[in-house]
Amino acid sequence: MLYYPQPIADLIDGFMLLPGIGPKTAQRLAFHVLNMNEEDVMNFAKALVNAKRHLHYCSRCCNITDTDPCRVCSDSSRNQELICVVQDAKDVVAMEKMRDYNGLYHVLQGAISPMEGIGPDQIRIPELLRRLQDTDTAVNELILATNPNVEGEATAMYISRLIKPTGIKVTRIAHGLPVGGDLEYADEVTLSKALEGRREI
Ligand SMILES: [Zn+2]
Repeated sequence: MLYYPQPIADLIDGFMLLPGIGPKTAQRLAFHVLNMNEEDVMNFAKALVNAKRHLHYCSRCCNITDTDPCRVCSDSSRNQELICVVQDAKDVVAMEKMRDYNGLYHVLQGAISPMEGIGPDQIRIPELLRRLQDTDTAVNELILATNPNVEGEATAMYISRLIKPTGIKVTRIAHGLPVGGDLEYADEVTLSKALEGRREI
């Protein structure tokens, strides 16, 4: 980056930290920032810092939140007997958009993947078990809504085997969802059908 003044080089390096952004795109974005008005740039910079500083994980469901417990966990009008287990925070957004679901969530922050060296303890499975063992909990059904791909299925099977002996009903969302796809990209109808057609595993 010797060709650029240092502030632009730093900006390009910053954009390159983001997933899917290569040198060319980073350069284009950096020059775009130079043409933005100062107020927009300041707001953008503040949003980046605020997101990092004020967001953390909910101590109950492990979703990203700025309050603890998060808004879903502290909403007593939601069905406390139902937990939908998803891989990441974007899946909660997809489920909430559908508006058919009124239970709670548990965000695993990943899936079991022996290929990548990710075991059950590297994702939020221990937190899920602790949550279910809590004497205050009233959960009677766990809906496994991990992605319909190899890692998602393996994770669902693993959790199912752990939880079944406790007597809690364990269901898996139906595969109206495309195999190999991501829950976050599913349209609302597909997701709604998949939830409706869940079965016990
Ligand atoms: Zn929560």
